[in-house]
Amino acid sequence: MKVLVSNLGSTSFKYRLFRFDDGVEESIADGGYERVIDFGAVIEQCLEALREQGHLQSLEDLDAVGFKTVLGKDLSGCVEADDRVIAALEGFRDVAPAHNPAYAEAIRQFRRAAPGARLVALFETSFYRWMPEAAGIYAVPRSWHDAGIRRYGFHGASHKYIAERSAELLDRPDVADRVRRMYVDGPGNPPEKPLRVVSCHLGGSSSVTGIASGVAIGTSMGFSPQSGLPQNNRVGDLDAMAVPFAVKHLGIDVSEAERQLSKEGGLAGISGVSNDLRDIKAAATGGDARAALAIDAFVHGIRQWAGGFLWQMGGCDAVVFTAGIGENNPDIREAVCRGMEGVGLRLDPHANEEVRGGEGTISAADSPISALVIPTNEELVVARETHRFLEQSRIAG
Ligand code: AMP
Repeated sequence: MKVLVSNLGSTSFKYRLFRFDDGVEESIADGGYERVIDFGAVIEQCLEALREQGHLQSLEDLDAVGFKTVLGKDLSGCVEADDRVIAALEGFRDVAPAHNPAYAEAIRQFRRAAPGARLVALFETSFYRWMPEAAGIYAVPRSWHDAGIRRYGFHGASHKYIAERSAELLDRPDVADRVRRMYVDGPGNPPEKPLRVVSCHLGGSSSVTGIASGVAIGTSMGFSPQSGLPQNNRVGDLDAMAVPFAVKHLGIDVSEAERQLSKEGGLAGISGVSNDLRDIKAAATGGDARAALAIDAFVHGIRQWAGGFLWQMGGCDAVVFTAGIGENNPDIREAVCRGMEGVGLRLDPHANEEVRGGEGTISAADSPISALVIPTNEELVVARETHRFLEQSRIAG
């Protein structure tokens, strides 16, 4: 079975082709386009390139296309990417304006360009479907709640990958298996022995998720991907009263406030330097106080959320770092874990320096809490779930 995973931004289209055969899963081709104006044209080019390179004999050779859709109004999970999905994406286009219109358009274009392939959407919110209601509800009037204003959570494919892979690395095949089957069979009963993981996805976009035996119990991102930790140039959490205050006192309207908070906020807003942590770090090393403050605020946010989940889960077996910063930045990892010896987390400074871009353990051998670096693999999660979705619907006849 061949599954193409498409990963879209407002003007970018990345793809990866996977093959699943008799228990073997492999990535066989990938590519992408930037500054896309016409999604239909690049989808044609992508399919043509895969045929020319011999990865697809013909279009009939493509069994499915999986989409890492962000969030939909009244819809989540791993589902057929049909008109219902397009309507759900359109219904929340204001919440994820960089992604929802692009995914809706790509689904339409794939339907036209590859009519024989099944189209499957895996919503980023899927991983949070079993989160306790108390962790997802905002203290808003009921009419706001009914309009869909609640904590959905994002980076679901990434945190799911971390849930499964960390369980494998920590020798908990029961939990890994639970995570693997979760979207098809539901999470079932928790194992007798819990596995409590704090997953830190730290990149251009960041979130921290508490995972109890494979199931998310809370996450730092809320209603939109503009929430939680300070993001690269997006605001992160903000007191709800700040927006009406800014509108009244800064002479801007709501859409300008929205633009500023989603383009000029986050680490870029605090530092005034850049939205890339490498530049901010260089400026901080050179004595720039705002750059140093941006890093401190980022670390403070991570520690606050990680500490909250440790308390919620009654302890922690492992903290995992992933994504661009989590995988490559030992300074941030050290700052997040600093002073936690009394709680049972001790880093191995040498291992922490060494592990960059690969998988590894960075806690000391005698540390009761493990610290792991795991490169995330969101495309693989989408491909696996798409494959399972097809297998399941084949069995269901
Ligand atoms: P992502 O969105 O996961 O691609 O992560 C982007 C962030 O990761 C940027 O803020 C970079 O500072 C950071 N990053 C990516 N690669 C590296 C690297 N090799 N060394 C240090 N930081 C990196």
